[in-house]
Amino acid sequence: MWQYQVLKTGFFRADGGAMFGMIPQRVWQRRYRADAANRCILAMNCLLLWNDTRVILLDTGVGTKDLGVLSSYHFRDTEDIAAGVRKARFAPEQVTDVVLSHLHFDHCGGCTHKDRAGKLLVTFPQAMHWVGESQFTNYLSPHTLEKSSYRPADFMPVAESGRMTLLRDDSELYPGLRVSLHDGHTPGQIVVAFKASAGTVVFPGDVIPTKAHWSGEWISAYDTHPLESFDAKAALKQQLKKENAAVVFYHDAYTEMYDPRLLKK
Ligand SMILES: [Zn+2]
Repeated sequence: MWQYQVLKTGFFRADGGAMFGMIPQRVWQRRYRADAANRCILAMNCLLLWNDTRVILLDTGVGTKDLGVLSSYHFRDTEDIAAGVRKARFAPEQVTDVVLSHLHFDHCGGCTHKDRAGKLLVTFPQAMHWVGESQFTNYLSPHTLEKSSYRPADFMPVAESGRMTLLRDDSELYPGLRVSLHDGHTPGQIVVAFKASAGTVVFPGDVIPTKAHWSGEWISAYDTHPLESFDAKAALKQQLKKENAAVVFYHDAYTEMYDPRLLKK
């Protein structure tokens, strides 16, 4: 049985058209608010899980080391993930595992930070970092169109430290905590499902980034392979239904956790 807590690491803005792809604006605006410039506010809701032996982080937010370079995303209220971990009464050195849904900068930027001299350091030096093998291959040599989503400074220091394990298959990582791999948004995205006292909780990452993306055809234009996104989401929703699982949405600024039994579609 796992205990858990959502760690909010900040918000940013993304164009609503990009977030909802083929869905017309008049339709998506009924499900997800936008500002006068049609931009949606997106959250970065990481999860901290723990039991008697392990302390596990799911995603690490954008981090705070290079926000100037990313100013076009209008990040606000960003909090370093290590500060969030400390508030939850754990030291960063106590974190045993970091499971990264994928390596886009808004999900893994907190894996590294800079010291006062500007030197890059690994934020959770004792933790094993888990990444999909095909995701890591993609990170090393991305397509030109996806390249701006990856930043070497976010994860290369971790990979070079040797504290990384690449996942090739769906598996039970620890008792009561399973990981599965999904393509579509980007190759080899990890989805985590774990047993908590009230039942199974799933962290779908960008397979279902907000509650508004629940319907199969609501696919972000950022997804590199939308047909695979559709299939990945359909398979995941089947699993959620079977297990009566609750969902924590990484990017939803308004609904951080939801019980899918209450969703109509
Ligand atoms: Zn994302």
